[in-house]
Amino acid sequence: MNSNGFVPPEARAAVEQLRAYSAPLEGRRSALRLDFNENTIGPSPLVAEAVRGFSTEEIAIYPEYDGLREAVVRNMLETGCRPGLQPDQVALFNGVDAAIHAVFHAYGDAGDRVLTTSPTFGYYTPCARMQGMTIEAIPYEGEAFTFPLAAVQASIRESPPRLLLICNPNNPTGTRLAPQTILDLAASAPGTLVVVDELYEAFTGDSVLPVADFSATSNLLVFRSLSKTAGLAGLRIGFGIGHPDVIDRVGRVTGPYDVNSVAVAAAFAALADQSYVDAYVAEVLRARDWTVEALRSAGVRHHCDGGNYLLIWPQRPVAEVDEALRAEGILIRSMAGKPLIDGCFRVSIGTTSQMQRFMEALLRLDA
Ligand SMILES: *Cc1c(COP(=O)(O)O)cnc(C)c1O
Repeated sequence: MNSNGFVPPEARAAVEQLRAYSAPLEGRRSALRLDFNENTIGPSPLVAEAVRGFSTEEIAIYPEYDGLREAVVRNMLETGCRPGLQPDQVALFNGVDAAIHAVFHAYGDAGDRVLTTSPTFGYYTPCARMQGMTIEAIPYEGEAFTFPLAAVQASIRESPPRLLLICNPNNPTGTRLAPQTILDLAASAPGTLVVVDELYEAFTGDSVLPVADFSATSNLLVFRSLSKTAGLAGLRIGFGIGHPDVIDRVGRVTGPYDVNSVAVAAAFAALADQSYVDAYVAEVLRARDWTVEALRSAGVRHHCDGGNYLLIWPQRPVAEVDEALRAEGILIRSMAGKPLIDGCFRVSIGTTSQMQRFMEALLRLDA
């Protein structure tokens, strides 16, 4: 109650039951950031140049998006997308987080069911809850965290969900799913919107874009972002790729200027410099091999599959290891409280020299 004796009005019932989705994002600047799967060396120099060259006129006017969807299409074709992709099959978002929000807003009615897996990316659940949807999260299977395909198929047969969310490779387990399997799932549930979160596909090559024909598979929506691999997390820009009608519907619940002009300028520069991203991905894959070999020879329990991250089970309690690494300026992400992987932490993979620094500290602090 405030001093006037009034209480502020209640939000929608679904919102009153939510807690704000917050990640520990303060004070990370000078540290070795292996906690959020970001690019650890920054974007292409062309991106920094585009941002520095930003004019006062560009700051003063509302953003313009002319040509950006075309640039996304060119980049997708360059990176293996099936020919024929059109600009009206691309939606622009203020990061894929905003895309996730928009999909739930456009497709999720109260009482509808969303089908997904567990553990997976943390933002799906609050978006489902804010719509009042029910969530069916099927656990990954066994020591290798295999995709629970039979259980997902059975759930669809029993009753097709409104939304099926597949993170491929999955964050944080790295679980990979063959693109054809995703197309088969989509074909088995034509009334379900199948969302494929492909933020880390550059590290696996398992994208559905080379094989998906969106006119035949019209219930598929693919997410790509410039946050992680391309190194633009601070600018917020991501893409949805799918059937023009699906793109239209998510566009209806997105604000007209949600993507800002600096992000647009940076995106043009990033999309035009695919070789920079390719070189970074190649270095991360080398660093991943080095790290896995180092963990194996030191006898440290770990799980590594797709993506620029892996899971490690320390000997000491994970909170202590987190704290000790932080004191050395190295950030990792504890998985405490996450189903199936409670007790481990996720470490993002940077360059080989960054991983050498991480491994040296880990082996010293977790002895
Ligand atoms: C980081 C992440 C996102 C959010 O990406 P942004 O484009 O930065 O909003 C979405 N999905 C997954 C699986 C992620 O790891």
